[in-house]
Amino acid sequence: MYGRLVGALLVVVLATARLTAQADIGPGATRDAAIEHPYRPGVDVQSYDLTLDLPQSGNVIAGYAVLEIRHTTRVDTLVLDLLQLTVDSVRMDGVRVPFSRTPAEIHVAFRPNGKFPVRVEVAYHGAVEDGLIIRSDSAGRWTGFGDNWPNRARHWIPSVDHPSDKATVTWTVRAPAERTVVANGVLVYHKPLPNGRMETRWHESHPIPVYLMVIAAAPLAEYSLGPLAGCGRNGGSTRCIPQLVYTAPEQRPMLPGAFARAGDIVSYYWSLVGPFPYEDLKHLQSSTRFGGMENATAIFYADAAFRTGRMNEGLIAHETAHQWFGDAVTEREWSHLWLSEGFATYFSALWTQHAHGEAAFRHDMESIRASVLADAEAVPSHPVIDSLQRDLLALLNTNSYQKGGFVLHMLRRQVGDSSYFAALRSYYASYRDGTALTDDLREAMEQASGQKLGWFFDQWLRRPGYPELDVTWSSDPSSHQVTLEIAQGPRFGAFRVPLTVELRNANGATQRMTVLVPAENQVQLVLPAGTRPITPSSLVVDPDVELLARIAVHHR
Ligand SMILES: [Zn+2]
Repeated sequence: MYGRLVGALLVVVLATARLTAQADIGPGATRDAAIEHPYRPGVDVQSYDLTLDLPQSGNVIAGYAVLEIRHTTRVDTLVLDLLQLTVDSVRMDGVRVPFSRTPAEIHVAFRPNGKFPVRVEVAYHGAVEDGLIIRSDSAGRWTGFGDNWPNRARHWIPSVDHPSDKATVTWTVRAPAERTVVANGVLVYHKPLPNGRMETRWHESHPIPVYLMVIAAAPLAEYSLGPLAGCGRNGGSTRCIPQLVYTAPEQRPMLPGAFARAGDIVSYYWSLVGPFPYEDLKHLQSSTRFGGMENATAIFYADAAFRTGRMNEGLIAHETAHQWFGDAVTEREWSHLWLSEGFATYFSALWTQHAHGEAAFRHDMESIRASVLADAEAVPSHPVIDSLQRDLLALLNTNSYQKGGFVLHMLRRQVGDSSYFAALRSYYASYRDGTALTDDLREAMEQASGQKLGWFFDQWLRRPGYPELDVTWSSDPSSHQVTLEIAQGPRFGAFRVPLTVELRNANGATQRMTVLVPAENQVQLVLPAGTRPITPSSLVVDPDVELLARIAVHHR
């Protein structure tokens, strides 16, 4: 998701020399499993079959939810999240059963000796206040758009409303025929009903988290980006992903606009990571409260982005990257949100590099780094993996997005391009349609690179801040020897980082070298003499924007 409308594009860079292999001196890996706490232990929803009757006007809906539920360990009671709405009946395997209601939950006893999987049916109705955003658009037309992140699906869907429990979803929506209904997955049918109403069914056959299960019901114009908009290799053959854009009718003349390269974005990510995870991809003008929301196969963008002409390729690239990272591979715990937002941030920058070149990528990485260094809230006081944060909206911060994105950039330099993309492909293939934690990514990177990376993940993701390096350099003209004195801390402590410096002499000749700065408060490093040593008149630190650090340089 993108929290705000994006003014500038983000970008990518990669071209770094592989660093010399280093011994693992870090404290070793922390097992994420230790902090896992199942949201609804013993219960695993396999599928949601959701039927909604939408009104001609107003916000009162009627719903019928059918959940197929598997037992993972023995539990006596099924607890479903549902706020506010009235529950009319609950059935288990066709038999009406008693239930109890709290303001936020439905409690139903599993039948003794009942078989699993069990089919649970919930009939409900009422006025929807959130989750499904019902409002009149600027032309006074009724519109409804799902907007669930992080746990607002429970305003309108009886569910196990947590990213750890993914399921398939079928949507059957009955609405006035003049509304176009779009939802996750593929269109199954349209069927006219009496009284000018229409029934529309969509089905997503891959498991997705509840926060991505949405519908749109509004007067929408459809624009096809073509059946070949985004292709890639799938096994031995080529597969293409149809893409459609849906906007308010009066916005249609603007298309394709920023969506002109939506197909290329899919093809590029496909080539980097692996096959697009779903059957199709839709982009919609919507009422999401975010700049963009990556609902599986149906990305919702802020209405204002269209109306003010601010839709842009960077935002499309960000939300499209989420289809792989966030949607197909989902963070199992909210504290690992960077596995979704850090990836989307970095992959948007990678798209910039691919489409617009190195200078644009470097500019994006500079602006990502500048955001981290300027942040006075999350970055200096919280680690990226923030298991103590209970306010989920507060996780939409510079740590999850920009710092997470820059960490992925530094991880790439640490292991080298070949290992990095091999690991991403393996991570995606292993956890696609499932969930993952940070250690799963670490293990994929360790496997591909042969390096122990616990120290890297710990220093960048499990403690706040970033390195603050004070670099004093001096040179000896007779020996051409250049010495760096580097001080770190005390604000965030000392980090172990590679540091590239570029020496430049009075004639403009340059020489680059990379040194490993150990995690020590004070260190003196002598640069190795190059094959054609120069006497530097100036020294540039981190010329390629590869290090997340605040760096001050002095000459002695
Ligand atoms: Zn995002």
